[in-house]
Amino acid sequence: MLKADNSLPETEIAARFPDLHPALDARAAVVEANRCLNCFDAPCMSACPTHIDVPRFIKKIASGNVTGSARTILDANVLGASCARVCPVDVLCEGSCVMHGKHEQPIEIGRLQRFAMETFYDAGGKLALRRREERKQRVACIGAGPASLACAAELRQLGFQVKVIDRRALPGGLNTYGVAEYKLRVGDSLREVRMIQDLGVEFEVGEVDPEGLTELERDFDAVFLGVGLGAMRRLAHDGSASESVVDALEFIAGYKTGQRTSIGPHAKARRVVVIGAGNTAIDAACAAKRLGAGEVTILYRRQREHMSAFDFEYEHALREGVVFCWATLPKAFAAKGDAIELQCIATAQDETGQAVPVEGSEFTIECDVVIPAIGQSPLLELLSQVRGVAMEHGRVVIQRTTGQTTNPKYFAGGDCVNGGREVVDAVADGKRAAHGIAAALGGASS
Ligand code: SF4
Repeated sequence: MLKADNSLPETEIAARFPDLHPALDARAAVVEANRCLNCFDAPCMSACPTHIDVPRFIKKIASGNVTGSARTILDANVLGASCARVCPVDVLCEGSCVMHGKHEQPIEIGRLQRFAMETFYDAGGKLALRRREERKQRVACIGAGPASLACAAELRQLGFQVKVIDRRALPGGLNTYGVAEYKLRVGDSLREVRMIQDLGVEFEVGEVDPEGLTELERDFDAVFLGVGLGAMRRLAHDGSASESVVDALEFIAGYKTGQRTSIGPHAKARRVVVIGAGNTAIDAACAAKRLGAGEVTILYRRQREHMSAFDFEYEHALREGVVFCWATLPKAFAAKGDAIELQCIATAQDETGQAVPVEGSEFTIECDVVIPAIGQSPLLELLSQVRGVAMEHGRVVIQRTTGQTTNPKYFAGGDCVNGGREVVDAVADGKRAAHGIAAALGGASS
C-alpha cells in the first residue's frame, strides 16, 4: 500500500495553496469601502451571527482609520480575522447586502474585513483589554476550537481566570487543523490564538477523562464544553480500514501540519476518490488536486441539488478540476495491487426522496486513495461521561440564551451543540455562553 513520506516543507505548501481570494490592497479597500451606503438598520449586520457592526467598520476603512475598523470587528468577534477568510459571506452578510436590490455587486464585506484585520495584526495590533476588575472565579474551557476561544476571550474581558484544555498539540481546533490551507493558514489561526493568550488565558494540552472531569468540577467554578465533533464517520464496508482509506479531516490536518500524506508530488497516489459532498469533501478534493493528484472524483449518493456544500464551493471544485459523480453509492473495496477497486452502484430517488440502489447498475472505479468525508460523529464517549448533561440526537442540550446545559455547572456551544455549523456560529455560541457563565457566577455579564 502507498506509504510515501510525502511531508511538504512550509514553502511548498504556501506555493501549492495560494490564497483563494487575494487580499485587497489599501487603495482598493478604500474604493470598495466608499461604495457602501452605510445603511441604517443594516441587513448585513443582522445576517452576521456575531452582529459585527459592518457599516461602522467599513466607514472607518473609508476614513483611513484601519485600526479603529479592526477594533470594531474584534469588539463583536474575537476571531474576526479567520471569519473574514472562512465565512460563507455569500449566504451571510454579503448575501443580504442591499446592493443586490439595486442590481449592483454586493459590497465585498469579507475582503474588507480581512483587509482591516490583517493590516491590524501585521502592524502588531493587540486585543484591547476592556476596563474591568480581576475576579477570583475560574472557568475551564474544554476544547481549543472557535467556540472555546470566543468563550475564553470574553470571560477574560469580564475578569475571570480561564484555562483552555485541548488534546491536540496546537490550539485553534478546525481553524488550525480542518480548514483548507488556501482559506486559512495554520500560522494565521495561531496568530489569533496568541492574541487571546496575551489577554491572560492559560492553555494546556491534555486529554480530559472521567477523573479529569471530576478534578475540573472541583477546581473550577464553571466548565465550558467546546469539544466540537469527533472523527469522520467510518464507511461500513469491508476494506474501509485499509491504509489507503484516509479520513478527510486527518488528511487535511496531515498536509497542513507537515505530516506525511499518501497524496502528493512525490507519492504514487494519482487517483483519488472522495466520498461525500459537503464542504469538507470539497476542501479535501481540492487539496488532493493541489498536492498533485491527477484525477480527483467526488462520489455522492444523491444529486447536485441535494449536496450540502455551498454553491461557491462546488464552483471552486469544478475550477480545480474535480469531477463529480452523482447518484453513486460505494458498496465495497477490494485491494488490487497497490490500487483499490471501489465497487459502486447507481442510485435513484424513491417516493420518500431517499436515494436507493438501482439493481443491476453495479460498476467499479479504480483508484489509489479513498477519502471518506461523510460527516463527523459526535464525541459521545467523552460527553456521556459528563454527569447530568443531557444529549439529544448526539447533541448537547443547552438553554439557547445562556448556553447552560442541564448540569448548571456546565455550559456548551459550537459543533457539539449545533451538529457542525460555521466558525462564526461557534464564536457567537462561545460569546453567549461566556455571558451566561458570568451571570450564573453572580457577576454582571457586560
Ligand atoms: Fe453597506 Fe451593503 Fe451593509 Fe448596506 S447592506 S451597510 S451597503 S454592506
